[in-house]
Amino acid sequence: MNHVLSGGDALVLMPTGGGKSLCYQLPAMARPGTGLVVSPLIALMQDQVGALQRMGVSAACLNSAQDGEESRRTCRELLRGELDLLYVSPERAVMPGFLEMLANCRLSLIAIDEAHCVSQWGHDFRPEYLQLAELRRHFPEVPRIALTATADEPTRADILQRLELFEAERFISGFDRPNIRYLIHPKTEVRRQFLEFYRSHHRGDAGIVYCQTRSRVDRAVGWLREAGLEALPYHAGMPSEERQRNQERFLHEEGVIMVATVAFGMGIDKPNVRFVAHLDMPKSVEAYYQETGRAGRDGLPATAWMAYGIADVMGLLQLMSRSQAPPERRALERRKLDAMLGFCETAQCRRQVLLRYFGEALPGRCGNCDTCLHPVEILDGTVAAQKALSCIKRTGERYGVGYLVDVLMGRDNPRIQKAGHDRLPTFGVGRETDAREWSSVFRQLAAAGLVEVDMEGYGGLRLTAASWEVLKGRRSFPLRQDPLARSTRERVRKKALPVRAPAVENDLFEALRRKRLELARGERIPPYFIFNDKTLLAMVESRPETLEEMAELPGVGEVKLARYGEAFLEVLRST
Ligand code: ZN
Repeated sequence: MNHVLSGGDALVLMPTGGGKSLCYQLPAMARPGTGLVVSPLIALMQDQVGALQRMGVSAACLNSAQDGEESRRTCRELLRGELDLLYVSPERAVMPGFLEMLANCRLSLIAIDEAHCVSQWGHDFRPEYLQLAELRRHFPEVPRIALTATADEPTRADILQRLELFEAERFISGFDRPNIRYLIHPKTEVRRQFLEFYRSHHRGDAGIVYCQTRSRVDRAVGWLREAGLEALPYHAGMPSEERQRNQERFLHEEGVIMVATVAFGMGIDKPNVRFVAHLDMPKSVEAYYQETGRAGRDGLPATAWMAYGIADVMGLLQLMSRSQAPPERRALERRKLDAMLGFCETAQCRRQVLLRYFGEALPGRCGNCDTCLHPVEILDGTVAAQKALSCIKRTGERYGVGYLVDVLMGRDNPRIQKAGHDRLPTFGVGRETDAREWSSVFRQLAAAGLVEVDMEGYGGLRLTAASWEVLKGRRSFPLRQDPLARSTRERVRKKALPVRAPAVENDLFEALRRKRLELARGERIPPYFIFNDKTLLAMVESRPETLEEMAELPGVGEVKLARYGEAFLEVLRST
């Protein structure tokens, strides 16, 4: 902030919920003139502007969803120098008419949010971001600040280059989100797995469930509702009014589960999302980090849960093989997918692996991820790997996992008989283990690069040069025991770990939450616009008796105190 206040350019990398917006909001208010904020999503803009106005800040936005009268009013305020902050879309920011108007205003700074959208290496590339460098040419004296919550080194370099932030200082804060618990499981029966997780850890909580495709979103909404959960779909195939309505409900009500493709989430500022669940594997570690980062923005305990399986990997590989992108880009996507798979298969602390990906070291295990909580057993899987690889070889390197497992298990399958594969020496050689474990062997072989998927054909598995090392006994194969498959077989139920802060169960907290919902309904705004959960918990802990005492609590500013203080004091006195 000091750097921007004194007129310098900056690149800010901060995890979601780390106070990124404050880095430009405060300097914009302190410096003379209006701060121009470029933000990619209308929903995000409206949220932020709403929250700022509620705190008594003079903020406004210009976007295509407004009517003419509203836009004209905002422009008048801008020209009169009455705005501290003006939010606009990237398209608007470079419109000639708009730039002309800005030339007549005093700008305090230019902030470019979600700056990774400028990079074609990032996962949210938006071509209109490429034109934002023009702002530098029009306003060379105005400090510019680019912000993002996710950017690996090539993306960072890309942001500086493409936005022409040649002299910008970099401010990179840690990527760790210690309040998020990472739980990753091999997929067996994803419905049962998810519902068990939800019921034991997050019953009644708000969360986001991500699926790879639209049809999977619709199916998941179906079975979640059948199980009695309040689930709403969100994907690009829906009419935009319905999407908008679902998003509003997610923001305004408590305990709604949004089931979405990755189209949902950027700019979702709901602080009390208690869990983010991936029913399918995301295509990169960056995407995973960003999506899971939407959980627990209020700093209270939250969970990032994922179930992944070999079918997810195949699905992603197939998508890639159909892509029209140039070869080097496809190779990059492939490397990103491999890194994601490596993260899923690791026996190390998840947080250590995740942070290392972003160039950060975490000394010691975190104690708050599944591999820390339930250390993974590593066995010598060389013999199993040899059986699996030999099965691929002998069936001609053209079959998928399901078929190969059937051959190994010696199953009665007409396709196998027709191909004569029931006469192979590998037929039935794997009867000692079950089908689920064989799938896990194939998945881990793929993750380790010991088999590859034939994407030009029908997705059959093929051997690689490294496979022969294992087949010839020159290389061993450590096999990660899937803890879930094991516990299901033994019917051992793991003890549910307390994820919530104990105070959350408190009656007083619930009473405060009810008051908040009531006030929010009256004003038709999301409950957390009034006070977030952290502030409510602080009220429970310190039990303020006067407005002066309440003013000491985090998240209670002058405007909110005057507006809501008395209502909450009343609840505190009577509960
Ligand atoms: Zn850990």
